[in-house]
Amino acid sequence: MARFVRFLCSALVLSLLLTGCQTAPKAHDCQFVAMDTFMSLTAYGENAQTALTRAQEEILALDTALDVNNEKSRVYAINHRQQDTVPLSGEVGQLLSLSLELARETGGAFDPTIYPVVRKWGFTTGAYQLPTSHELEQALSLVGHEDLFLGQGSLTLKEGAQLDFGGIGKGWAGDRAAQALREQGIASAILRLGGNIQTLGTKPDGSLWTVGIQDPATGDNLATLAVADLSVVTSGSYQRYFTVNGQVYHHIIDPATGLPADNGLTSVTIIAPSGARCDALSTALFVMGPDGAARFWREHRDFEAVLVFDDGSVAITNGLQGNFTLTPAFSHRRLEVLE
Ligand code: AMP
Ligand code: MG
Repeated sequence: MARFVRFLCSALVLSLLLTGCQTAPKAHDCQFVAMDTFMSLTAYGENAQTALTRAQEEILALDTALDVNNEKSRVYAINHRQQDTVPLSGEVGQLLSLSLELARETGGAFDPTIYPVVRKWGFTTGAYQLPTSHELEQALSLVGHEDLFLGQGSLTLKEGAQLDFGGIGKGWAGDRAAQALREQGIASAILRLGGNIQTLGTKPDGSLWTVGIQDPATGDNLATLAVADLSVVTSGSYQRYFTVNGQVYHHIIDPATGLPADNGLTSVTIIAPSGARCDALSTALFVMGPDGAARFWREHRDFEAVLVFDDGSVAITNGLQGNFTLTPAFSHRRLEVLE
């Protein structure tokens, strides 16, 4: 997570006249770095600048609370505790409670206690290294969401267990930022928190937002999605990785093995109202692999998904038909619709 938080928040008037004498609502823009990623928030309407400042404050506060590397963060305090039981309430308590629900729902494919393993690979510090199998085994023995006990105002963890909200924090932050905007009366906004997109309402003219999906192999725009009032969150092996002897090691870890998930998927995008749920599910379905992800979707059907495979082919869930378009350069890609 970012130890440094540089931000420049400026009101940029991006759009002017719609037609003749009618003026379109002004787009206000706020850009900054938080949670180790570039964020760009755009909102329309009166009060948008004040609202964006509130949204930004929510995100920065969460960055400070969740940063595993920041000695002042709540998560750092939990991970470096002296006793097994620590006080925990407020927002981090709510986030952990939701994370545990999602861990159970995904059969542990998403697991907020993955940190000892993630740390061994160096993904949170950038000091990448290949752990030995003994080190991985040791780190894995500390992982297990079922070993946490979250009580009224307290959390009990087994010795050595550590939390990592890297797989859900940006989505949660997007939800909080969207809520802050709504409370300020904003009805139209698009929030870009790195690869996590959160839309509020429609565009001011009533049309859908267009969100791009990246081709993992080339970084080009693979497809577009038309959405309103939804989050669009992507997990991909291309987002953070290092290479040793030609072998790529990425940051989405299979909690069953401690190794980067390697199952034929290169990205998973989840589309649903809640950013936090999208975020956890994008990580979890990436870990589950093509068959597990399709099965999970068929059992739930309360979200939509785009899966990109390492041969470049694409699968979408049937609810996206009509709103998903491969860009012309990728129109030859094999596209399967999951029913
Ligand atoms: P995302 O980009 O949302 O898929 O999240 C990846 C980040 O979440 C990683 O950088 C780790 O910090 C953390 N993480 C990796 N694997 C898992 C997992 N299986 N469950 C929960 N968090 C994970
Ligand atoms: Mg995620």
